[in-house]
Amino acid sequence: MSKSAKGTITSPGENVRAKSGLNREILFQGWGIFANMLRYKCSWSGGHLELVDPKFTSQRCSECLFKSKDNRKGKNFKCLNCGHVEDADSNAAKNIDRAGRAQRDCGDVDIGRIYEAVTSSCALAH
Ligand SMILES: [Zn+2]
Repeated sequence: MSKSAKGTITSPGENVRAKSGLNREILFQGWGIFANMLRYKCSWSGGHLELVDPKFTSQRCSECLFKSKDNRKGKNFKCLNCGHVEDADSNAAKNIDRAGRAQRDCGDVDIGRIYEAVTSSCALAH
């Protein structure tokens, strides 16, 4: 349904720009519908869904919250600040979990500011 209309060099497609915009909307709506269904299912089962910005979650240490792109080398995560070693996906999942809890409890959506929340007044962000 969202296949590109670009075509080939010998046989260029038509209405490529319009089709590109349509594709973008189809894909965006797909994620929106998925999020709505997930929210409904969570609510139905007594849970709660928080959508968080995943920015830097794979570069930030889940132990000391130090952020650096050099912390992550492929599938492995090693913090350059505290030496914490973990599977990169597990480390990122902990950061996403922390961001979701902080957002729910403190209304904080900036993961960079979560560090301040964790170390100061918002005990629920842990
Ligand atoms: Zn660390």
